[in-house]
Amino acid sequence: MVDASLPLCDLHRHLDGSIRLQTILELAGQHGISLPADDVEGLAPYVHIDSSEPGLMAFIARFKYLVEILIDTDACRRVAYENVVDAKNEGIDYVELRFSPWFMAERHGLDPQEVVEACLDGIRSGEQDTGIRANAIGILSRTYGAETCHQELDAILACRDGMVAVDLAGDEAGYPAGMFVKHFRRVRDAGLHVTIHAGEADGPASVWSSIRELGAERIGHGFRSIEDPALVDYLAGQGIGLESCPTSNLHISAVRDYASHPIKRLADQGVSFCLNTDDPGISAIDITHEYETAAPATGLTAAQITGAQRDAVEMAFLSQDEKSALQFKVAQGRAL
Ligand SMILES: [Zn+2]
Repeated sequence: MVDASLPLCDLHRHLDGSIRLQTILELAGQHGISLPADDVEGLAPYVHIDSSEPGLMAFIARFKYLVEILIDTDACRRVAYENVVDAKNEGIDYVELRFSPWFMAERHGLDPQEVVEACLDGIRSGEQDTGIRANAIGILSRTYGAETCHQELDAILACRDGMVAVDLAGDEAGYPAGMFVKHFRRVRDAGLHVTIHAGEADGPASVWSSIRELGAERIGHGFRSIEDPALVDYLAGQGIGLESCPTSNLHISAVRDYASHPIKRLADQGVSFCLNTDDPGISAIDITHEYETAAPATGLTAAQITGAQRDAVEMAFLSQDEKSALQFKVAQGRAL
């Protein structure tokens, strides 16, 4: 269960994997983009996924209609804004929204830096209108290769003040972390936090490399760390937390079912983790689903699930003062 006395956070949510079906329909209508259906019910099966389609790249292919409607920077701004409103409506107090500007810009030839600016603008407006906290994480899409990722990073660092961290996502097995050492030296030199998608489609070596070569402070997914006891000990000892997204892992068929998800065994060995939605617009879930349906189905105890909610605050890319302010605000708000 979600503990109402604690802040509810989602630290691993892709802004472009969280677009309302209604928004897809409206933007497609305005810009003459053809879709396979003209209402929410008809469009849902083309955007939503279940566990029947195996593999990370099949999952990424579901983004087709989501990026199709990112026709201009106004569309990007709208999507970013609605992400914050949707987070508020789910009961979230703090959300970290991540996006790859190159991926969002690519389909319609937008300027990646302008995409970043528009997303940051939408997130800030969303914060002002909803009163919840939101931060942005820039993603380097490793699938584009090292050279393009430098350009993608240029766009992110041009807006450095609006960002809290940089992430590496995409084809983990085909484009290992070691290809991006220089990129993440630039990220750390800019004073930004580092979180890396690792230990999802590839094994423990990918997690080790993300920590040792890129300076990852958190790991996106990371459940394959269970394959290396020394890594499990290291994560627990160093307090490197996992951003766990159980339903997303199920949907890319990285795990067979919730019961066989390694997060329970990782938690039992003292690894910190939080629960997150990843791409709620594709998985058709919200954060409550991860706490109240997915997490218990993995075998996590009620105490471990509450611990995850607490760890999320600890893992958040916020200063100690901001964390205290968030906890104070939640305690005050719930008391009203
Ligand atoms: Zn992700």
